[in-house]
Amino acid sequence: MRMLLIGAPGSGKGTQSARLAARFKITHISSGDLLRRHISGGTSTGRTAKAYVDRGDLVPDGLVMDMLRKPVVAANASGGYILDGFPRSVEQAKRAYETARELGTSVQIATYLDVPTQELVRRLLARGRGNEDTEDVIAHRLAVFHQHTLPMMDYYSEREDVVVIDGDQPADQVTAALFAALEDWQQRSA
Ligand code: AMP
Repeated sequence: MRMLLIGAPGSGKGTQSARLAARFKITHISSGDLLRRHISGGTSTGRTAKAYVDRGDLVPDGLVMDMLRKPVVAANASGGYILDGFPRSVEQAKRAYETARELGTSVQIATYLDVPTQELVRRLLARGRGNEDTEDVIAHRLAVFHQHTLPMMDYYSEREDVVVIDGDQPADQVTAALFAALEDWQQRSA
C-alpha cells in the first residue's frame, strides 16, 4: 500500500502514521522526523533546513525531495509506504507525482486528518517541542498549513482516492476510524 497522511501540525499525523505502518506492514516515512535528524546530526541538509524549521516555514522543495527519494524507493520495494508530512503544498504534490510516476511509486490513497484550529493550538502548546512550538511559531505553522497545504486536498481529490477522518477524537478512536476506512478501501480496490 502506498499512502499519504495529511494533516495540520498537531493533528496526530505522527502517532497515527506509526500505527498505520504497523497495521498494514508498510514503512513510515516522516519528512519532519528526517529533517530533525539531519538537523541534530549537523549534516549539510540539516544546516540548510534549520532556519526554516525553527521559523515554521516550509523547507525548499528540492531539499525535501532529495532527502526523501531513497527512503521512498526502498519502502516501495518492501511493501509500500505511509508518507507523513509530505507533500505539503500543491507544488510539492505536482513534483512528487512526476517523480513517482517515473519511478513507478505513485500514491494510491490520501487520508486527511481533520482537526479544528482551536484544538490544534491546544495540543501544540501542550506538546511544547522546543523552538518549533512557541506561540508565534505555532501561529505561523498553522498559517502556512492553511495557505500551502490545505489547497493540496483539492489537487488530491481530483487525482487519488481521498479519505477524510475526524481527527478531533481520542487517538484510539482516530486509529479505529483510519483502520476501518483503509480496510474498506483495500477491499474495494482488491
Ligand atoms: P512536521 O514534524 O511534519 O510538522 O515538520 C516539522 C517542520 O519540518 C515543518 O514545520 C517544516 O519546517 C519542515 N517540513 C516537514 N516536512 C516538510 C515538507 N514536506 N516540505 C517542507 N518543509 C517540511
